[in-house]
Amino acid sequence: MDQQRPIIIVGGGIGGLTMALALARKGLPSIVLEQAPQLRETGAGIQLCPNVFKMFEYLEIIEPMKQIAVFPDNLVYVDGINGCKFLTVSLGEELLSRFKYPYGVFHREELLKTLAAQCLKYPEVAFITDAKVTGLEELSDRVVVTTEKGQRVEGEIVIGCDGLWSVVRSAICGEEKPRFSKHVAYRGVIPLSKIPGHLRPNNVVHWVRDNSHLVHYPIGSQGFLNIVAIIQTTNTYAFDDIQGNPTELTERFAGSQPEILELLKEVNPNRKWLLFDRDPITHWSKGRMTLVGDSAHPTLPYLTQGAGLAIEDAVILAERLVEHQGDYQAAFKEYQEERYLRAGYVQLMSRAYGEAHHSTGVARELRDMMIAMRTPEENYEWLAKMYQGIDIHSKVPHG
Ligand SMILES: Cc1cc2nc3c(=O)[nH]c(=O)nc-3n(C[C@H](O)[C@H](O)[C@H](O)COP(=O)(O)OP(=O)(O)OC[C@H]3O[C@@H](n4cnc5c(N)ncnc54)[C@H](O)[C@@H]3O)c2cc1C
Repeated sequence: MDQQRPIIIVGGGIGGLTMALALARKGLPSIVLEQAPQLRETGAGIQLCPNVFKMFEYLEIIEPMKQIAVFPDNLVYVDGINGCKFLTVSLGEELLSRFKYPYGVFHREELLKTLAAQCLKYPEVAFITDAKVTGLEELSDRVVVTTEKGQRVEGEIVIGCDGLWSVVRSAICGEEKPRFSKHVAYRGVIPLSKIPGHLRPNNVVHWVRDNSHLVHYPIGSQGFLNIVAIIQTTNTYAFDDIQGNPTELTERFAGSQPEILELLKEVNPNRKWLLFDRDPITHWSKGRMTLVGDSAHPTLPYLTQGAGLAIEDAVILAERLVEHQGDYQAAFKEYQEERYLRAGYVQLMSRAYGEAHHSTGVARELRDMMIAMRTPEENYEWLAKMYQGIDIHSKVPHG
């Protein structure tokens, strides 16, 4: 590809760094502009499914990723009120016999550091931190990006990897606020050594009840337990309200199984994360600008696929850019046509799974019963859908 200027990547999160890496492997230079003073991830744990490890293999980073991953034995669902364990899905041998790749959980910081280290192997990648993008101007032959501090960076194209509140998305799609799901997350990350043995199995455990649930799994090469408690709120919060509401948190989990109440003590009640998503869209490119990851299709976390989609997006977009040899609009068109149904599926199904997680009354009992009756085939259906892709054609090989 005869490229005059670098590709500008706005945002140095999981999507942005994977994008830079995927481009560098094709010999395409990029500049990553990140608003934070250093590359960092908020939150602690992240689950990545076999479809994502397939991308890691494609990017030739599967070994470093395996070194920092924890591989849980099972995915377990327990009713948080009556303590009934109604589902156990093996994430070990049986999963590997169905899919070629594993299901791993990560400390987000280690994941991002590993991606950054892989990027730095390539002279094609440059990072500029403390560079909050505030302006985008598209000219006939280039784009000009300006930052809050007055820097001016010129590039061939701009790829917005700037997450939920993306400025690049606003430039492409107009201003439209994300949708507050009424789900509110609280988190805790505790050294495993401080947690009694019965509360830290090598499993991803979902305690689901009505209007709330709690998930925990071990993460990180240093050994932590990642705990996320999510409640359904009836309060109206300002979109940037991060002050925790300990009373609401305690009330939502009142009457839970003792394990939940013990784990809840390890969650920080003073800091909350409001969970947002957006409705799916078909077009997220305009002129010399396109989007990757949460900026294009932010999703609730219930399919554990938000970061996975960002990583897949990056791989596929890099492929299309090379194939179309500088015809950016053709590359963007093909890329988004290939991705929007898959992303839309995750966005909509995550809402449905979120509803199921928080079912009340008879619906809660039916949820537990119906899930307990599922066949092994049905238990892996969600992972299989993501592994194989849905009814869309993708030129990235599906194993
Ligand atoms: C509670 C919770 C649990 C989750 N669990 C999982 C999971 O288990 N598995 C999974 O796959 N996904 C999960 N996700 C989703 C996942 O975190 C996101 O989908 C993923 O982080 C998206 O990556 P991204 O790079 O697109 O965006 P982000 O991670 O939001 O990164 C955007 C980056 O852009 C930077 N930025 C923003 N604006 C600007 C600007 N104007 N200028 C410069 N830089 C800017 C930000 O500082 C940030 O570094 C979860 C999400 C939540 C909330």
